[in-house]
Amino acid sequence: MAGYDYDFFVIGAGSGGVRAARVAAAMGRRVAVAEDRYLGGTCVNVGCIPKKLLVYASHFAEDFEDAEKGYGWTVGTPSFDWTTFVARKDAEIERLNGVYDGLLEKAGAEQIWGRATVAGPHEVRVGDRSFTAEHILVATGGWPDVPEFPGRELAITSNEIFHLKEKPERILIVGGGYIAVEFAGILNGLGSQVTQLYRGPLFLRGFDDDVRQALAEEIRKKGVDLRFDTNLTALERSSDGSLRATLTDGSQAVADQVLFATGRRPNSANLGLEEVGVELAPNGAIVVDEYSRSSVPSIHAVGDVTDRMALTPVALHEAMCLVKTLFEGVPTAPVHEGVPAAVFSQPPVGTVGLTEAQARESGAEVVIYRSRFRALKHTLTGGEESTMMKLVVDRASDRVLGLHMVGPDAGEMVQGFAVALKCGATKAQFDATVGIHPTSAEEWVTMREPVGTD
Ligand code: NDP
Repeated sequence: MAGYDYDFFVIGAGSGGVRAARVAAAMGRRVAVAEDRYLGGTCVNVGCIPKKLLVYASHFAEDFEDAEKGYGWTVGTPSFDWTTFVARKDAEIERLNGVYDGLLEKAGAEQIWGRATVAGPHEVRVGDRSFTAEHILVATGGWPDVPEFPGRELAITSNEIFHLKEKPERILIVGGGYIAVEFAGILNGLGSQVTQLYRGPLFLRGFDDDVRQALAEEIRKKGVDLRFDTNLTALERSSDGSLRATLTDGSQAVADQVLFATGRRPNSANLGLEEVGVELAPNGAIVVDEYSRSSVPSIHAVGDVTDRMALTPVALHEAMCLVKTLFEGVPTAPVHEGVPAAVFSQPPVGTVGLTEAQARESGAEVVIYRSRFRALKHTLTGGEESTMMKLVVDRASDRVLGLHMVGPDAGEMVQGFAVALKCGATKAQFDATVGIHPTSAEEWVTMREPVGTD
């Protein structure tokens, strides 16, 4: 609209913000993106990408061992240099920051560096500059949330762990979600002594129970000291520089670093949102309707700041739907069902669709297929790692409602099966599909005997 400086003003250049900005700009809209930290947001800078690089780095330890134990290689004594890795990783992140910069520039979106605040339904301020826009998008992501306890300032979060000067030889990880299990595997693989605490009886709440059980067993086999029903109550620094944690069971634990991975909070504070009437949930999430519109019709939000599903591909999907809604005249609501996910634990988890518990709660009569086996590779290495695969099938329709896995390449496998579930695949269609031999994946189409029925 001619009366505004921009058609679309995006606050936050993370996954969701950049996608919305560059697609809208490529359509010829006048777009600005304000950012005050880094291009690419959490995922590129302190999340998915550097985390996955760390997973690769740490997994070599096991690969070297397997090569020697089972396959005739002489490996010698491998050693890992944290500083070298961090430098390589930082160079790659810098390259990606440049890619994001190029994408925005090529699409014609203007980048404005500085902290933006919303000053009205159509007004944004950055420093002492003021801009008007027909639509405003808040895509400011989330931030690690550390509970209050004595010594809290001594703990680190996923923001800091990527930039440590040295690898912690002993690390205490608090939490039982994605980040906690991923870093437990990473640091264990890199040779650190890892203790992971989770406050409840079994971690990864919300995942299928068989996944939770199987992963706990596998993580323990690999040497992580995994303690359930245990939390940290206080932290202090000892005279030798180490950290001493007091735990709920009365015991103490000593570590070089204590990582809190206890969830993330929507980044909505001090943005001027409440002042202009944008409704926030008690945890700070921007409340949006099915089209990602806030309680102020010209202000929209996508990604982690809405606390719908804190996953990069979901933020991208929400951004694409919003652009369609706003600039193509096609109201498009993002779909949050059937979203596949992976936890890059070691071994990894892959999941799509309903857990067994969710399927039962929905009233469906379910048939469960489950397989647990040692992958072919480990017949020669003697490795103890076992893979778990599970299908949750609706007895009435024969549709596969959920597919869950703990084992190598789980994320790679489940991505493909997510398409099958989207298409409404039935168990009979799984059975009619010919396997690829020898793979672990062929198990998905050869599970014949149900293990539990209603
Ligand atoms: P999660 O929500 O996954 O897990 C938080 C964990 O911390 C839970 O185990 C929770 O326990 C526990 N917790 C919460 N509060 C406290 C407390 N006060 N004291 C002790 N424990 C506590 O959060 P993460 O920080 O691991 O990750 C944030 C989000 O980022 C994820 O939910 C996910 O959406 C996304 N992410 C996705 C990844 C991927 O796709 N692979 C990787 C990393 C992050 P309880 O269950 O009992 O509440």
